[in-house]
Amino acid sequence: MHITIWNEFLHEQHNPLVADIYPQGIHAAIAEFLREQIAEAEVMTATLAEPQHGLSEDVLEATDVLLWWGHLAHDQVEDAVVERVHQRVMQGMGLIVLHSAHLSKIFTRLMGTTCNLRWREADDRELLWAVNPAHPIAQGISQPVILATHEMYGEFFDIPQPDELIFISSFSGGEVFRSGCCFHRGKGRVFYFSPGHETYPVFKQADIQRVIVNAVHWAYQSDVSSIVTHQSPNAPAGWFEATGRDPGNAQ
Ligand code: ZN
Repeated sequence: MHITIWNEFLHEQHNPLVADIYPQGIHAAIAEFLREQIAEAEVMTATLAEPQHGLSEDVLEATDVLLWWGHLAHDQVEDAVVERVHQRVMQGMGLIVLHSAHLSKIFTRLMGTTCNLRWREADDRELLWAVNPAHPIAQGISQPVILATHEMYGEFFDIPQPDELIFISSFSGGEVFRSGCCFHRGKGRVFYFSPGHETYPVFKQADIQRVIVNAVHWAYQSDVSSIVTHQSPNAPAGWFEATGRDPGNAQ
């Protein structure tokens, strides 16, 4: 299983508070626990500053599951790279969209809506409730998961109805939020997960790591369907009979 973690990697270099929590960057912290917890994983990272943001055709072609964390620089992500990621999702690559990447170019394109939400940075307490407890992404975590302090993300969250809703969060300010949502796009599986604000050590919390590990397993497809989706094939009359599989021939 080949996993690539993409991070814009800006807060960590400019905000000492964030650098204290994630000295090597959020991408490195996520890579560390994925390597520990998924034995078969080949994990690599990519960042905004790298040529092609570290997401060349070769890298994406070899990626089974891509994780995405972005916030300040969504507009700096080149459209050609977004197009390439989009095509790979259509072909079956998994995509896990974390926290403020709800406004990334790739997520808004995949959703087709604004993906806007309410927000507040005020040390709210967040409770993350599984509302689909039999789903593989919800396995093995506390009910609820407690984030002692976190940024509030609240409804209305302008996304299409999720194909599967896994988590709902409540906040000390009274808001609720669809914090874990599954979507199918083309042959790919997409999971949005809202925890992960950069000034709180959210990605060091065992339950949050477990959700992300579960999501990687869910989004990964070892054998992607061979059904052609990148073109509209013509099917001339008689094509099926010509295969010799028409049961009418047997009579
Ligand atoms: Zn945030």
